Amino acid sequence: MNFTYYIPTRILFGRGQLNNLHKEELPGRRALIVTTGGRSVVDNGYLARVEEELKAAGCTYVLFNKITANPDRSEVMAGAALAREEKCDFIVGLGGGSPIDASKSIAIMATNPGDYWDYMQRGSGKKKPVKEKPLPIVAITTTAGTGTEADPWTVISNAETGEKFGFGIDGTFPVLAVVDPELMLTVPPAYTVYQGFDALFHSLEGYLANIATPISDILALKAISLIAENLPAAVFDGKDIVARENMALANTLSGMVESTSACISEHALEHVLSGEYKKLPHGAGLIMLSVAYFEKIAEKHCADERLIAMAKAMGNPKASAPSDFIAALKKLQEACGADKLKMSDYGIDRSRLKEFAATAKNQNAASFRVDPCDLTLKDCIDIYEKSYR
Ligand SMILES: [Zn+2]
Repeated sequence: MNFTYYIPTRILFGRGQLNNLHKEELPGRRALIVTTGGRSVVDNGYLARVEEELKAAGCTYVLFNKITANPDRSEVMAGAALAREEKCDFIVGLGGGSPIDASKSIAIMATNPGDYWDYMQRGSGKKKPVKEKPLPIVAITTTAGTGTEADPWTVISNAETGEKFGFGIDGTFPVLAVVDPELMLTVPPAYTVYQGFDALFHSLEGYLANIATPISDILALKAISLIAENLPAAVFDGKDIVARENMALANTLSGMVESTSACISEHALEHVLSGEYKKLPHGAGLIMLSVAYFEKIAEKHCADERLIAMAKAMGNPKASAPSDFIAALKKLQEACGADKLKMSDYGIDRSRLKEFAATAKNQNAASFRVDPCDLTLKDCIDIYEKSYR
């Protein structure tokens, strides 16, 4: 029962909450707004609203709108250089997981010398400690997926080394987060699916991790049931505000799961794919691997009770075997039209699956250490092979 609980983020949750941002005590006077280069935050008016809120709070700002999907180390370094040049004293991350994660990494590099990979603790990273406190971060999420607004984690790729790793410290928890489901009404159906399943896997994996705590268990089971109940409705009618609101809550709870437990090796296996194939959305990669992945866990009988509890949370009160969870997962994928995703559609090369398995094991050993059971190299190859279509 021994555990540490630490989530220092103040969260403004609910419909219309973006309108209250200016009433908050913001952590600085000059913001770097970090967002994507895509049109959606502009066309939907979200960027203009954030700018108005900052002005109403008496803040000035500079815009850095160069973040891409699966953001790269070079984007972090460019954003941090701008933050320093413009003497920004806090960062506002606006958008989905990519800009908010990038804003955390920019916050680190705005106050620390050298290169971002100097501080990376995995793979070819130099594993230096982050000595200076990162700039404070305000996260405004427009998607229900990564939960990054309620956790310290940031996932960044390195095009030079072909790596993609998570990183986080206490100083990369946002100090303030806005989770306003009205900002999520415009997410297209396919991305609603990918992001919703990403949140689901954060909770499923956090519930299975061998470092799960009594608090992460409560958060995870609640998030799992909210997603099973609401994701199909959010996919088929994006304007369904109740479904969006429940998905937003599930997303934030899943972020809290990541703060109190951890993702396991399903995420490590996926990061190899979307790290290499930039067009593959992270959530889509997870969906492709998930059935074979959880079947492998079920086969090992190391987490039977937990798999049954997950099946119950997904809406099967009579669940009595790990296979009931697999059935519930497949059913949700079918209900969301997510059961036909193919690796070959994203150009993933079947002949490289063994190499991917070795890379995941070598570069992301930390994720395998929190698995409920040992997954061998052969197990990982099996999961990729079985998932390949
Ligand atoms: Zn994820």
